[in-house]
Amino acid sequence: MNSNFDISSKRKLLYKRKRKRQLIFKIYIVLLAISILSLILLLNKSTPVNKKVISSSNSLDNKIIICIDPGHGDFDTGAKSSSGIFEKDIVLEISLKLGKLLEENDIKVIYTRTNDSLPWLETANDSLKERIRISKAFKADIFISIHCNSNYDDISAKGIETWYKPNDESSKNLALILQTSLSNLNSTIDRGIKTYDNKDDALAVLELNESISALVELGFLSNTYDEKYLNSDKGKEAFAKSIKDGLLNYIESNKDIIIKKRSNKAM
Ligand SMILES: [Zn+2]
Repeated sequence: MNSNFDISSKRKLLYKRKRKRQLIFKIYIVLLAISILSLILLLNKSTPVNKKVISSSNSLDNKIIICIDPGHGDFDTGAKSSSGIFEKDIVLEISLKLGKLLEENDIKVIYTRTNDSLPWLETANDSLKERIRISKAFKADIFISIHCNSNYDDISAKGIETWYKPNDESSKNLALILQTSLSNLNSTIDRGIKTYDNKDDALAVLELNESISALVELGFLSNTYDEKYLNSDKGKEAFAKSIKDGLLNYIESNKDIIIKKRSNKAM
């Protein structure tokens, strides 16, 4: 009786243990299934992120890059006013103000120079090529060269004008938007947008440039009226803000063109 009882209770015990092992196995399988399912869900979720990274070169997820080119510098003074103000100093001040404003608007800014010394010391022609090389090296979407005019044969000549490369519709459009923004200041005469017919007259920073580009002439240093405004803090602030507004307007309405240019460059 005792031995029978022993056998029966042993069986029961063995059976219980077997049931326990089966339960543990079942729990293990369920946990494994949950883990695999979670992993699949996680991978699915991360797929769109990967797709986004791949497509980012084709969108404006990356910041717009603008190259600001303050004309002249160092030995190359540019135009000089009758009171001894140099073009190179005025355009540098306006350029640095412009860069700050653009950075506040999430634009990546690069400069061809940030002080009076040029990072290169070559002839004027090499200087222009060097400016384009910098713009290209940093993959600038837009290049803007900032200058002042002068005409000592006619000191009554005054006004703002913006130049672009011939047969370049994007640059012409940029020039038009910049000129409109600048002439809205009513600081001087609106001389309109300009291009050149002859390669000999070509403005090298535009002609050799592959980016959407424009060159602004913010007034005549040979004209006392224009000079006064150009050399005032109010004038410099206003020009910087006006060019910034023009650039942001252009970017806002020409995103597709900028993306297309980027993908062409990447090829
Ligand atoms: Zn100049």
